[in-house]
Amino acid sequence: MVWEKDEKEKRQEPLLVTRSFLPPLEEYVEMLKPIWDSRWLTNMGAYHEELKKRLKDYLNVSELELFVNGHTALEMAIQSMDLKGEVITTPFTFSSTTHAIVRNGLTPVFCDINSRDYTMDVNLLEGLITERTCAIVPVHVYGNVCDVEGIQDIAERHHLKVIYDAAHTFGEELDGKGVGQWGHASMFSFHATKVFNTIEGGAVAFGDKRLAARLYQLKNFGITGYETVEYVGANGKMNEFQAAMGLCNLGYVDQEIEKRKALVMHYRSRLEGIKGIRLCPENPRVRSNYAYMPVVFEEDRWNRDEIFQALKEHNIFARKYFYPCVNSYDCYKDRYRAQDTPVAARISRQILTLPLYGDLPLEAVDQVCDVIEDRSR
Ligand SMILES: *Cc1c(COP(=O)(O)O)cnc(C)c1O
Repeated sequence: MVWEKDEKEKRQEPLLVTRSFLPPLEEYVEMLKPIWDSRWLTNMGAYHEELKKRLKDYLNVSELELFVNGHTALEMAIQSMDLKGEVITTPFTFSSTTHAIVRNGLTPVFCDINSRDYTMDVNLLEGLITERTCAIVPVHVYGNVCDVEGIQDIAERHHLKVIYDAAHTFGEELDGKGVGQWGHASMFSFHATKVFNTIEGGAVAFGDKRLAARLYQLKNFGITGYETVEYVGANGKMNEFQAAMGLCNLGYVDQEIEKRKALVMHYRSRLEGIKGIRLCPENPRVRSNYAYMPVVFEEDRWNRDEIFQALKEHNIFARKYFYPCVNSYDCYKDRYRAQDTPVAARISRQILTLPLYGDLPLEAVDQVCDVIEDRSR
């Protein structure tokens, strides 16, 4: 354990923004034995089926399909809706969200975010709808649940599909309902860096039972029968080694979230009073998973890059997550202007996500906060 070493050595250990959760090695190795016996390594094996059942339960959703990773899950969720035209989304997200739209031959239209919790600003949404709009892809960024009722209302009035990027909201509930129950579909990511991981992995949660067969076929090359291939699918299957990791990790995830909660509470108590620092408001309707610790350093008092650098000098590696905004990426900037989403542009210049994972010692949180507090004077 790093933290039992003396003070000098402590500083030499880099403090990273996250650290993947792993179960006890013996537990995972034990899970591998049936795979060796059956030689069933992938293609919807026993662990795949068991994990799917258990996650449906845990995520409190009616239907679920597993995927090799979250990005493929999102791409195939979008593909399953047979869409054409424009899709409204936000630029304050991971590249995956926009790429999934573009790789489906659809045109992203960027809606700005609100400056409260950085999710889609629903007041701007309706103004972006044209006769070409077919869907909305909002992001529950940092686990902050979007204004799902506002989005649903607009989507229903304009007959639009809603597919949530719920990569950050594993296990979250709104008013006791799984967050994946909103919209036509929601994508969850089980990447190594997320609250719950299957090494790489993901899922689509949905309500319409008819989508189940289509998603299953899409992730299996579009094959629909022994001698028939009806869709241009791809390989999106989660293998048995991933599913085994998921089954192991599911037993620890509540404990992981509890640990994160204590750390987030400590961060909050230390940072809340500092001038020019803004934290996301807690939503009393949401059972949070404490996935991230985003902090906004307001421009009139702080320079985010300076804080980033100061932390780095103390061997603390925060992340500029999300910077830059998607609409200023090299691959998109010719077609979009970052100024068109000014709130997203500003927040991305001001934000840092601080180190957070279950095994992070409370003393490390203090170290991070000490560096920030020092700079506030
Ligand atoms: C992690 C993530 C994804 C992609 O998930 P992968 O499992 O890494 O493919 C998509 N969107 C957001 C917001 C993410 O954080």
